[in-house]
Amino acid sequence: MQCRLSVRELVEFLFQSGDLVYSGQSVERANLGSRIHRMLQSQATGDYQSEVYLKQETIIEDVTFVIDGRADGILKDEHGITIEEIKTTALPHDEINDSCFVHWAQAYCYGYLYAMQHACEQLTIQLTYYQIETKQIFTFQQVKTQEQLTAFYLDCLKQHLRWARLSQNIRIASSTTLKKLTFPFSSYRKGQRQFAVAVYKTILDKQNLFAQAPTGIGKTISTIFPSLKAIGEGKAEKLFYLCAKNITASVAYDTIALLQKQDVSFKTVCITAKDKICLLEERNCDPKVCPYAKGYYDRNKNALYELLSGEDFMNKEVIVHMAKQHDICPFELSLDASLYADVIICDYNYVFDPHVYLKRFFMEKGNYIFLVDEAHNLIDRGREMYSAVLEKEQFLSIRKKIPKDAVLLHKALQAVLSEFAKLKKCCEYSDFFADEEPCLPFLEKLESFSEHCDAYLQSEHEESHDDELKDVYFAVNAYIRIADYYDEHFVTLIQKDANNVIVKQFCMNPRHPLQNIMKKGRSTILFSATLSPIDYYLELLGGDEKTPRLSLPSPFAKQQIKVIINNAISTKYRNRSHSLIAIVEMIHACVLAKAGNYIVFCPSYAYLQQIAEEFANQYPDIAISIQDGNMNDEQKQAYLKQFEEMDGLHVAFCVLGGMFAEGIDLKGDRLIGAIIIGVGLPKLHPQLDLIKAHFDEINQMGYAYAYQFPGMNKVLQAAGRVIRSLSDKGMVAFIDERFTTRFYRNLLPILYAHYEIINEPQRVYTVLSSFWQE
Ligand code: SF4
Repeated sequence: MQCRLSVRELVEFLFQSGDLVYSGQSVERANLGSRIHRMLQSQATGDYQSEVYLKQETIIEDVTFVIDGRADGILKDEHGITIEEIKTTALPHDEINDSCFVHWAQAYCYGYLYAMQHACEQLTIQLTYYQIETKQIFTFQQVKTQEQLTAFYLDCLKQHLRWARLSQNIRIASSTTLKKLTFPFSSYRKGQRQFAVAVYKTILDKQNLFAQAPTGIGKTISTIFPSLKAIGEGKAEKLFYLCAKNITASVAYDTIALLQKQDVSFKTVCITAKDKICLLEERNCDPKVCPYAKGYYDRNKNALYELLSGEDFMNKEVIVHMAKQHDICPFELSLDASLYADVIICDYNYVFDPHVYLKRFFMEKGNYIFLVDEAHNLIDRGREMYSAVLEKEQFLSIRKKIPKDAVLLHKALQAVLSEFAKLKKCCEYSDFFADEEPCLPFLEKLESFSEHCDAYLQSEHEESHDDELKDVYFAVNAYIRIADYYDEHFVTLIQKDANNVIVKQFCMNPRHPLQNIMKKGRSTILFSATLSPIDYYLELLGGDEKTPRLSLPSPFAKQQIKVIINNAISTKYRNRSHSLIAIVEMIHACVLAKAGNYIVFCPSYAYLQQIAEEFANQYPDIAISIQDGNMNDEQKQAYLKQFEEMDGLHVAFCVLGGMFAEGIDLKGDRLIGAIIIGVGLPKLHPQLDLIKAHFDEINQMGYAYAYQFPGMNKVLQAAGRVIRSLSDKGMVAFIDERFTTRFYRNLLPILYAHYEIINEPQRVYTVLSSFWQE
């Protein structure tokens, strides 16, 4: 059996002890660390090699360890060979010493690997610490013989044996049993086999696939099943099932549970967001506050071993139970367990977001499969993940909270404020200014602020635990990190708002960063019921003309759905008050033909209120419900419960693009009709106008890319709530004069191609009455 690890993974796993590093800081240190590494390496003199790749295979009992890594520096001079390990630190200089064993351990391992490759009898091991605030350098040296280094290294591998065996046993069990996995249903639905085969072939060919798979095909099983088969055949190592919303994750859980009923063995970890799995009333990951972060690394290994030895399906409940037994953070435990899992079910963030992605997997390329569920959501999520914003007021507010004696930090903060003042001048003639270039002087000042703030937060000041200061520190670091991705698809926005100045790096098209992440894996399958027009999704989600794509027909029959378009009503903003009565009459005509549950999807909350009020005035005997703008999970479930009552007539008023317009599955008579008002255009917004201008330059389709395609996606998602199974029957009405223009007709799926244009409420009622009687 083989165990592959980097030197860093090996020593951190074995020797890391103590507390969890609180949120965000570890990533920042890593970024800052690489910059300083490069600087120190470039300053080295003599025969000095930096980033030297070293690798060694060692057999211990039944395990072949393959350990590799890059030594920061190797110096050859008249005294011999020195192996240098560089670390950055914010500790005050009088606290910097040679007591951190995990750092020495890393350097000893590189020393061993080098000594074996070059037959050195003796080496100098050097730890170099760079104090980020004072820029002082501290070095500590130890001389080690090859014999000493060998003894240390072999001891590390022996300590790791049980973990290597555990990992290998998991892998052997999954690969041998998953080969025998069979499709869990007696037959495939229409299109399902084609989809599953396409996914499998994509994985074999190490490609990506964009798949439009309409509701009813069974997307989750069609993607998970071939992926697990590929893992069983040794073609891939891990599957990441990526979700935009909790609701789709629960379908993936059910699918995994169904497959685990077969005689198979594979490990699944579900990663739940920190806020939702946290054991504290109010999350604060600072080890000084959270007892589950305090001493985490002293207790996590036993919990992890017990968890992995006993459980195949590690969902929130299982992880929380184990975490409580060992008094450790459940979120961090789920991340630790994910290293050993065959399947990881998580939010898009953990793969695509540069601020929270699972760097333990994605520092290097891996043999991973990414299944991106409801992939149309990745455009907006991608834009959010790769944009960053800072406001002058944030800095003004923390200025008062930093003690006067923190002189360097005050200076750095003042420099940032001066940059804000300069940027404000860009808005002399309008409140809003956009520049294609990143603002480099601003970035420089932010980097300096970040370094001084880091040092300050590391110091013993009680005030350093001020949450507001930490928030600004994290926001600054997020801004700096996003600057690394800045390319021709970004723009810098400067906005003046009274005394405030807001600066934003806005990612208009996230295709490059998303593409780079996808390259970390073997294959990515992006799928959704609404990926049309495909060129739009390819452009924004990192595909190109060569990327394989698949568009499957709906498994549903056109007889299951009656589609009506009313093109006599204008829902354009300026016409809304005039169209209110006509819309209400149309809704009434649609719902009168058959009692049951209907949803009216409105373009905004304000319009929703007006329409619902008018409807209630006109038809007080009809039960209505209105979506509230800020529903939490419980309220959402309570709202959906109303749809379980199927005898009477109930008209729900919900907002297009909201939580009831996507991801809800009201099968059978729980929902028999949807009435969609407007073409879903988002409100005019300066940022959307920038996207429009950007794409006008690229393909002359700016308005479609910024407004129309995203709007129509919301419309089709909402319409897709009605027919959820082969036995469902229902109606959809589209109300807006634009629906029958060529542009919008081309975007309607084939299932709706038999639509009828009916503008008279009486005739709508007649047509629907006969539809329901068929
Ligand atoms: S238990 Fe909660 S507060 Fe503590 S480390 Fe975990 S997520 Fe943070």
